[in-house]
Amino acid sequence: MYDVIVVGARVAGSPLAMLLARRGHDVLVVDRASFPSDTVSSHFMQQTGLARLREWGILDRALAGCPPFRNITLTYTGIEFDGFADPIDGFTETYAPRRTSFDAALVDAAREAGADVRENTAVEDLLWEGDRVVGIRAREGDGPAYEARARVVVGADGANSIVADKVGAEMYDRHPGGCFIYYSYFSGLDWTGAHHRTGFGHEQMGAWPTNDGLTLVATMARREKLRSYRRDVEDNVAGTISRCAPELVEELRDTGVREERWRPMVYPDNYYRRSAGAGWALVGDAGYHKDPFTGQGMSDALKHAGLLADRLHAGLSGEQDLEAALAAYVRERDERTHHTFRFTLAISELELSAEWDAIFRAAAASPEYTRKFFGMVAGGVPGEEFFAPDNLAWLFETTGMSPAPALAG
Ligand SMILES: Cc1cc2nc3c(=O)[nH]c(=O)nc-3n(C[C@H](O)[C@H](O)[C@H](O)COP(=O)(O)OP(=O)(O)OC[C@H]3O[C@@H](n4cnc5c(N)ncnc54)[C@H](O)[C@@H]3O)c2cc1C
Repeated sequence: MYDVIVVGARVAGSPLAMLLARRGHDVLVVDRASFPSDTVSSHFMQQTGLARLREWGILDRALAGCPPFRNITLTYTGIEFDGFADPIDGFTETYAPRRTSFDAALVDAAREAGADVRENTAVEDLLWEGDRVVGIRAREGDGPAYEARARVVVGADGANSIVADKVGAEMYDRHPGGCFIYYSYFSGLDWTGAHHRTGFGHEQMGAWPTNDGLTLVATMARREKLRSYRRDVEDNVAGTISRCAPELVEELRDTGVREERWRPMVYPDNYYRRSAGAGWALVGDAGYHKDPFTGQGMSDALKHAGLLADRLHAGLSGEQDLEAALAAYVRERDERTHHTFRFTLAISELELSAEWDAIFRAAAASPEYTRKFFGMVAGGVPGEEFFAPDNLAWLFETTGMSPAPALAG
């Protein structure tokens, strides 16, 4: 009998298992993957996520071989932000570590902390006593199915979570995903910092340095373009980049060498899921997912693993009623993410409202607000502060730019 079984061993699952094991709890963590293992993700980390890794003493190993960057060029339909956030939790740089090495480092850290980590192990069902989840039925490879029991089963098993499915965790605040992505890894590119460019035709490109001297190059477009896009990926990718970042396309064609296959994905919906109940909880994408535009998924998964570990510890050690502790975790997660969720929804359709267009234009013209903008995207400046009416009034006054009619009244 374990205290906690965690299903899924990537960004949410392994840190949760590690933190609980460090506090003396008996933890089993299973994943159907064997690590190192890649997954679909453009893996841009935010400073707030890096801070969690540093706090847990696993920053260096998670980022091994990955170069930092300290500049972001972000364009949005003709508006250009160039710079970086003021230090967040002491970080003046950020990283985009390959998931193969990043996730493997997290799995190793969970194992070192004393968690029972079982790879190549798929969960097929949950065990119940009445309406309470009491364990899992799992299988290693083609081996026989077996059962394991715990006081709490946590689904850290991603957007298509089997735990969420089996407990019937319904979604709320659900919004359809807007875009699809094609991405790959190139050698031979010497682009400074990160590029995040949204063009006028509901399309976007992103590029940032990662492990092994490679640059991740991605293009995104609205879902309705997928059928025509996939007919000639190479040509469409080059077309998107030439429209969104014309100064980069020549180097891509002349010196860039694509080292891996194109990875396509239609984005899952944006949603929250009911994330706690009798004997179970959800963390990471299993419980909360938003468009990758704002690059918050991994950092949120780390932050919420930390939050859930604290609450679970309180519940398991008897400091707090277990169910109340889990409910508090969900409440805090939702409160802390509400604004980023709305911000992500607002910009991920790749078109700004007149009001936001005016705010972004003025912000890009102000060095101070540009840093604030990058700080907000990185999760270090609360959206409430960025959009506070007094702050926006100051922004429009100092830049001499005019707010859209909705704000002027
Ligand atoms: C195209 C794309 C680009 C993205 N780009 C970024 C980005 O730039 N920055 C960022 O921060 N985030 C990004 N994200 C989001 C980020 O990848 C996720 O938020 C993050 O991976 C969530 O981590 P997780 O641990 O919750 O789930 P996952 O990473 O999905 O891991 C879930 C794990 O559960 C395991 N599992 C599932 N079912 C079972 C089962 N039945 N039995 C056993 N194991 C199981 C899987 O094998 C997997 O290893 C992107 C996402 C997408 C789709």
